[in-house]
Amino acid sequence: MANKKEVAILFDSSHCTGCKGCQVACKQWNVLPAPLEKNSIKFTGSYQSPADLNGDTRLVMTFAEHESGNKFQPLNFAIGRRSCFHCTDAGCVEACSSGALYKTPEGVVAFDSAKCNGCTYCESACPFDVPRFRPTDGTIDKCTLCLDRLEEGGIPACVKTCQPEALCFGPRDEMIAKGRQRVEFLKKKGFAKAELYGEKEMGGLHILSVCKHGHEAYGLPTNPTVNPSVKTAKLMRTVTGVGTAAVVAGLAVSLIAARGYRRDEVTIEEAKKHWTPEQREKADREVKALLEKEAGNH
Ligand code: SF4
Ligand code: SF4
Ligand code: SF4
Repeated sequence: MANKKEVAILFDSSHCTGCKGCQVACKQWNVLPAPLEKNSIKFTGSYQSPADLNGDTRLVMTFAEHESGNKFQPLNFAIGRRSCFHCTDAGCVEACSSGALYKTPEGVVAFDSAKCNGCTYCESACPFDVPRFRPTDGTIDKCTLCLDRLEEGGIPACVKTCQPEALCFGPRDEMIAKGRQRVEFLKKKGFAKAELYGEKEMGGLHILSVCKHGHEAYGLPTNPTVNPSVKTAKLMRTVTGVGTAAVVAGLAVSLIAARGYRRDEVTIEEAKKHWTPEQREKADREVKALLEKEAGNH
């Protein structure tokens, strides 16, 4: 049975109008800048903008066109939502080399940016390709489920702003019941592929989605799993027992980051290019000290 304290957002794609008010509310509440220059984001022919998450964008509404089979309305939009899903089995938390990412009893996967060293392991570990590096301060950024608002008894900014109530927030078991009910309704209306995504995926997500056209139509992965590199990262930490930067640098030598579900494969060496000179120097120093210590023991 789900933990009674657990909370969740329920996104209902069949209610969403694609207004993107939630995207704007997220930027406003979390003080995340957006480009202001005219035409600074090139029009790609899609309503999706920006095209993907980035260090200053925690939430993107996704737009996919599908043939409907109806000659009067030949195209249907599958409007989806891309942000952190707050997984129960959160690979990002497992992989985090500094303890910056952590889980709360309510199921929120939050982070302490002061602790983040910018190693970007969380990016590689996440099957949804969510955490993004922000070069301006050398840390990652992602949705926190508006933990600061929750702690004050509020609800997430994106949920608060949604006019057609495509977003709801509350105890996870209640959100599951509501989502299941909606799926039943949609199936009766002829949407045979309608389903609730997130009940079981990654041990249970804390962003649940009513997918009117089935999860594939929204680009959601089938049976997502934690990236195997996470196990190696954990093992490395246990075996060496050394500082954060040394672990990061040690792994950088030996690991290839697995593919996020949307972006191309990147190596840890490539990810390392994002580090600040201070982070690189610290890592190199710690690895050198570790190697010298080990040589002294033999
Ligand atoms: S605010 Fe609501 S209706 Fe508008 S895009 Fe977001 S989820 Fe959809
Ligand atoms: S979606 Fe990715 S970043 Fe969010 S909790 Fe799951 S593994 Fe971590
Ligand atoms: S819960 Fe908060 S941080 Fe997450 S997408 Fe909504 S507004 Fe943004």
